[in-house]
Amino acid sequence: MITETEVADFEDWGDAVQKAVGVLQAGGLVALPTETVYGLGADALNPEAVAKVFEVKERPHFDPLIVHLSSVKDLSTVAVVPEEIKEVVEALAKEFWPGPFTMVLPKTDAVPDLVTSGLPTVAVRVSAHEVMQDVIKELGSPIAAPSANRFGRISPTSAAAVQEELDGRIPLIIDGGASREGLESTIISVKMGEKRPEMTILRPGPVSKEALQKFGKVFKYKPASAKNSPEAPGQLPSHYAPRTPLYLFERPEDFKPEPGKRYALLSYRGMEKDGYLDLHEWETIGCLSSGTGKLAEGAVRFFYMLRYMDSLGVDAIIAEPISETGLGVAMMDRLRRASVQDS
Ligand code: AMP
Ligand code: MG
Repeated sequence: MITETEVADFEDWGDAVQKAVGVLQAGGLVALPTETVYGLGADALNPEAVAKVFEVKERPHFDPLIVHLSSVKDLSTVAVVPEEIKEVVEALAKEFWPGPFTMVLPKTDAVPDLVTSGLPTVAVRVSAHEVMQDVIKELGSPIAAPSANRFGRISPTSAAAVQEELDGRIPLIIDGGASREGLESTIISVKMGEKRPEMTILRPGPVSKEALQKFGKVFKYKPASAKNSPEAPGQLPSHYAPRTPLYLFERPEDFKPEPGKRYALLSYRGMEKDGYLDLHEWETIGCLSSGTGKLAEGAVRFFYMLRYMDSLGVDAIIAEPISETGLGVAMMDRLRRASVQDS
């Protein structure tokens, strides 16, 4: 299969939208831009199209997909919101949609079981990317779209990165520019507690714990076991992994280089006082932020930098920790899962 790339002109993306809709209507897959990372889109209500997503990504069937809507008005097509959480769901949607935010809610019968890996719930999002919104509107159906990478690998934040991951496997990539957020959406589940709504963060992302706290109590998701289990669908410990082994050392003194090996440093601020720069004669030093320590800058560059470091051909990538506040929580979550783990 030849993979074609169509640029969505930022003044007039109508042609790109039409092309994407044509492929999706015929049950095909299209890589689409969103503000978080690029998604591999299929008509969410067409089980055969959805099956192709798992096949192309080599994604295990127990890992459910996120369903994208063009507007909160279509929520009832895919989700049944229980009466006791209606108010908080509406408030959260008003605050964070369109945006990098996903809610797990009870699903309707219209959503194929394949999308939710047999779960009674569906993960729903409204993306802020105009191209994504218009494709969904024109298609007239929600789009199931996981990140457009092969399973377990680094998420793509540009059309070129999608090409690297899926060339020859899908017919069309819509190039809508570099992803503005750079990290996958925050995923939460919601229920009513004794007095206030309770939200559990299933995946940390651009919408922080602090931002959610004004809507109720916020909990961090803790899997029953570190390994994937039926109660923890999709919360896989190993993910976002470069081919080059990546080691996250929370303290500089934990790094013990082996003689003759070549190491690259993934630094956050690129500052000597952080203790990593002078630790070794690094082959390369990649910085997530340009010395400013701005978390948003780091997030936008995060997967791009991982991909770059992975292309260097070094023996290992050594990652410096990032302070765990706001977006730093999401970046550390990705770094931990991208790193070599004891099994
Ligand atoms: P991706 O599409 O690659 O961004 O990954 C989507 C993630 O959403 C999955 O790996 C799950 O962690 C999560 N997810 C999707 N649907 C559900 C659900 N019904 N319940 C819990 N988590 C879900
Ligand atoms: Mg993914």
